[in-house]
Amino acid sequence: MSNALKRRFVEQIKVMFGAEPQKPTLIEERAIEVHQLKRMTNKAELAAAKEAHRAREKNHKWRNIRWATLIFVNLLFVVSYHFDIQLLEGALTASRFAGFHLIDLNSALQVMLAHKHIITNLLIGTGTVLALWILLGGRTFCSWVCPYHFLAEWAEKLHLFLVQKKLVTDTPIDRRWRTVSWVIFALLALITGYTVYESISPTGIVSRALIYSGGVLAMLWVLALLVFEVFFVRRAWCRYACPIGLTYGVVGIVSPLRVKYTLQGCFHEGDCRKVCLVPHVLDTVIKGRAVDTEVPIGPDCTRCGLCVDTCPTGSLKFDIKGLSKLM
Ligand code: SF4
Ligand code: SF4
Repeated sequence: MSNALKRRFVEQIKVMFGAEPQKPTLIEERAIEVHQLKRMTNKAELAAAKEAHRAREKNHKWRNIRWATLIFVNLLFVVSYHFDIQLLEGALTASRFAGFHLIDLNSALQVMLAHKHIITNLLIGTGTVLALWILLGGRTFCSWVCPYHFLAEWAEKLHLFLVQKKLVTDTPIDRRWRTVSWVIFALLALITGYTVYESISPTGIVSRALIYSGGVLAMLWVLALLVFEVFFVRRAWCRYACPIGLTYGVVGIVSPLRVKYTLQGCFHEGDCRKVCLVPHVLDTVIKGRAVDTEVPIGPDCTRCGLCVDTCPTGSLKFDIKGLSKLM
């Protein structure tokens, strides 16, 4: 890893906790050359190429695969419960697969804080889940599994439509609130001895509502969140509040699965940033910002693939660290 990339790696961790991405102070020589070449390119030619690429039929490959996976995983729990298939029991936050306990990382953390000691049984189930999500990309949990993400994506579509019609405006919030929220819920568990977060987590609420039905009051809370996201703040819960997202983001720091950016062909038109839940991880696509010719996207990325689908030049692609060197 080049020095510039090492520096960016550390910066991206700070960015995940709420810091704003900064203009890079160290850029590798080979990237400087590409930046300079791009400055010399004829602007009219570039604009024409951009329009031609944008005119292509929209590609939704990764989004469709992701939605199918998300629906399949959540339906698996529903079907298992209703047909009493003992292969899989429980809900997303805590389940048993083939007799093996699987406990969501954030839930396990909350339970241990509430009980104020390390529960050995939880450690085994959590360790398995941790290993799985390290391999799969950390926040992959958000976009590929979390049922609230699916609902929020539809709310986001409605929000963007209303913004386009100038009926609502998006009001971004300080991203540091998510870290504050994480600390608050950890302290609440520690002080009260209850996993307070679990009772308001839209992830758990929607998952339980799907499997066991009922929970009308809790679903009203989820509905209120979605309404807030449609009319006031785009993707408010996932962007500025959800502690699960931050926990899995930390897991993503060491994950080999990520999205990789290639500077060479990029038009810097920013279509990817417009579709991204966490556009701060894509600051590298802004003209002159890439610190190397290839830049891995930071750990807060949910690996949703929307930018990969959207990028008109194929400059953003899924990548497994180290694999490209082997091939
Ligand atoms: S941030 Fe939270 S609610 Fe949003 S997708 Fe991730 S786990 Fe689900
Ligand atoms: S960078 Fe791309 S893959 Fe990552 S969250 Fe944003 S749109 Fe999704």
